[in-house]
Amino acid sequence: MKQFKTEKYTDFTKAVNRKKMEKAITHVESKFGKEYSIIIGGERIRLDKKFHSYNPSQKGEVIGTFQKADEPTAERAMQVALKTFEAWRYTPAKTRAGYLFKMANIMRRRRFELNAWMVLEEGKNWLEADADTAEAIDFCDYYALEALRYDKGPKLYKYPGEINKQVYIPLGAGIVIPPWNFPLAILTGMTTAAFVSGNTVILKPSSDSPGIAAIFMEIVEEAKVPVGVVNFLTGPGAIAGDYLVRHPKTRFVAFTGSKPVGLRIVEQAGKTQPGQIWIKRVVAEMGGKDLIIVDSEADIDSAVAGVRTSAFGFQGQKCSACSRLILDDKIYDQFMKKFIPTVEAITVGPTKDNSNYMGPVINESAYNSILEYIKIGKSEGTCVSGGEPAPGDGWFIRPTVITDIASKHRIFQEEIFGPVLGVTRARDFEHAIQLANDSEYGLTGAVYTKNKKKIEKAKREVFVGNLYINRKCTGALVGIQPFGGFNMSGTDSKAGGPDYLMLFTQAKAIAEYIGSRKTSKKTPRRAAKRKRRK
Ligand code: NAD
Repeated sequence: MKQFKTEKYTDFTKAVNRKKMEKAITHVESKFGKEYSIIIGGERIRLDKKFHSYNPSQKGEVIGTFQKADEPTAERAMQVALKTFEAWRYTPAKTRAGYLFKMANIMRRRRFELNAWMVLEEGKNWLEADADTAEAIDFCDYYALEALRYDKGPKLYKYPGEINKQVYIPLGAGIVIPPWNFPLAILTGMTTAAFVSGNTVILKPSSDSPGIAAIFMEIVEEAKVPVGVVNFLTGPGAIAGDYLVRHPKTRFVAFTGSKPVGLRIVEQAGKTQPGQIWIKRVVAEMGGKDLIIVDSEADIDSAVAGVRTSAFGFQGQKCSACSRLILDDKIYDQFMKKFIPTVEAITVGPTKDNSNYMGPVINESAYNSILEYIKIGKSEGTCVSGGEPAPGDGWFIRPTVITDIASKHRIFQEEIFGPVLGVTRARDFEHAIQLANDSEYGLTGAVYTKNKKKIEKAKREVFVGNLYINRKCTGALVGIQPFGGFNMSGTDSKAGGPDYLMLFTQAKAIAEYIGSRKTSKKTPRRAAKRKRRK
C-alpha cells in the first residue's frame, strides 16, 4: 500500500518557482469577475440573488460573483445528497479512496494556480498559500489511506463457533461548513473525510473564500467523483446553514469556524425535528486564544523567531496563532529587546508582491473589529509596536504588540483573529502555566525551556489540544500532529489523525454463528501446510 508522506513546500528562493507563481497570479487575475454556479448533482444553478468575493489587498476589487442560496435550493441539495447516498454508501472503500488519490494528483499539478487563488482572495503570502495547498494534498492522501485502513476493521478476539467483525459504515447526508482562513486545506480535509467514508456532502463554503472553493469543486469534477456526492452551495451561513443544520434528514454537520457560530450549530443540531430518527453528529472545531510560554531557561533567539511566526504568520488569522505571550520575569527585558525589532521589520502590503511578509486582514468587518480590539488593548495595557493601520488600498494593519496585559483583560481572554499579541509577565514557571490555563479555550500552546523537568510539567499541565515544546505553536502536519482543541476550542476532532474518520462513520458489530464449521478460511490451508511439513 502507498505510504503516507507529507508534501514538500515549494522553494520560492528558486527563480523558476517564482516565475511559475507570478504566471499563476496573472492567470488567476485574468479570471477576476467571472460568475460561478451552485452545483447540485452536477447541475449548474444560477439564482437571482448574488454576492461577490473581494480581493482584501485592493478594496472593492471583485474576484468573482457567486449565487446566494435560498431555502428551496438548499432543500434541492439535500434531496440530491440523500438520493446519491443510496448508491455511494455501498461503493467500495478502494474506489472511494481512489478519487482522493486522483484529487491529490490534480492539486499537485494545479499547485501554483491554487496558491495564487489564496494569495489574491485571502491575502496569504506565497509560503502560507503554498503550505495551505500542501496540507490539502496531504488530507487527500491521508484520508484515502485511512479509509482503506478503516475498511479492514479493528482487530477483535476470536470466539468459538462464530465469525465476529466490526465494520465502519457511513452516516448519511451531511453538511460541511469550513472557514475562510484555511480556505483550501480545511475545506478539503472536512469534505474528503466525509465522502471517503461513504457519506454525501453539501459543502457550504465561507462567503469570504468561495473562489478557491469553486476551484476545489473543479478538482472534484476533474477527478470524476460521481455527481451528487459533493454538492456545492454558496450563500449566507444563516439561511443555508441554519436551514440545513435543522433539517431532519441532516445526519451530520462538520463545522470549523468561530465559537459563536459553532455553539449555535451545536444548539440547532441538538433540537430533534419532527421526522428525525437519529442524533445528529456534530464536529465543531472553533476558536483559540493560543499561548507561548518563554521560560527563564529558554533559548531566547529560537523563542523570538517562534513567537514572531506564530503571532504574525498570515496576519495572526490562524486558530492556532499565538495571541498570548507569557514571559518569565527574568528574561522579559532580554526577550523584548530582541523581539520588537523583528516585529518592526515585518513588511505589510499586497501579498501578490512576495516581499511582503504580512498581507491584509480578510475584510472590512475584521479590520474594524481588530482596530477596536487594539483600542481596548491600548486602554488595558501599553502598545509597544504597531497599533495602527498600515498604508495601502487593502485592509492592512501593522503587527501589534501590547504589553502589561493581565489575565482578566479582554486582550488576554477574547479571540481577536488578527495581528495582535498581548504580553503578560509570569513570576515563575508555575505561574506561567496558571496563566496559560486561564482561558475558556484550549487549542494550541508552546513552551520554550531547556529544563527537562519543566518540559515534563508542561506536558502534564498545559491544557491544550496541541502542545508544542521549543517550537512555534502553528503549522500542525497531517498524519503527524492531529489537530483539535479542548473546551470552547471545540470537539477535539483531531483532524489529520487516526481517529478522524470515526467521526464520519458508525461502527456495526456483526456476529455470525457458524457452529462447528471452521472459523477461518486460512485454517484448512494452514492444516494442509502442517500436514505437508510432517
Ligand atoms: P465563522 O464562524 O464566521 O464562519 C465559519 C463558517 O460558518 C463559514 O462558512 C460561514 O459562512 C458559516 N456560517 C456563518 N453563520 C452560520 C450559521 N448561522 N449557520 C451555519 N453556518 C454559518 O468563522 P470564520 O470567520 O470563517 O473563521 C474564523 C474562525 O474559525 C476563528 O474563530 C478561528 O479560530 C476558527 N478556526 C478554527 C479552526 C480549528 O481547527 N479549531 C481552524 C480554522 C479556523
